[in-house]
Amino acid sequence: MKKPVSKLDKDGFIYVYSIANGPRASQNSHAYFKIGRTNNPHRRMYQVSNVCKLDPKIIEIFPSFPTDENQKTLSTNLATLKSTLAEIPKCPLSHRVEKLIHLELSSLYKRAGFKCPHCGKTHREWIRINRRKGPDGAPMTDRELWVSCIRPVILKWIKYGVLASVVNRQ
Ligand SMILES: [Zn+2]
Repeated sequence: MKKPVSKLDKDGFIYVYSIANGPRASQNSHAYFKIGRTNNPHRRMYQVSNVCKLDPKIIEIFPSFPTDENQKTLSTNLATLKSTLAEIPKCPLSHRVEKLIHLELSSLYKRAGFKCPHCGKTHREWIRINRRKGPDGAPMTDRELWVSCIRPVILKWIKYGVLASVVNRQ
């Protein structure tokens, strides 16, 4: 946080997805989330499914996409988005924001990176959360874990990025 802002740091999208099948599919005992940044969510998800052979289920993209009233599926959103991508205000200082998100999450939860057999790279931005019990005593769902454990951390650092970019501009 204290380091001077890099001139190379750029605006971008922070995205979060999970996968239903494959090496980081959620289990009864824990859930997995992938958090990354990109300047083109459409292209990024295309790479994930076509190169890494994963089937990403987008949980959220920050800032949010404009949603189609009738059809809220990813493909529809992304198709709509493709033409308007350039017009959407993105998260400032997104490289630093992503780094701060990962620093905090990895201090709280287990990192769950893995070497991808399809692209050959190690995907480091996976987080594993133990499935704790909710207020009603039942194991929390992936969605509940996302909302209570991860989303607040992401929102906090995105807000930081907005403030830091304003201060830095002066
Ligand atoms: Zn891969």
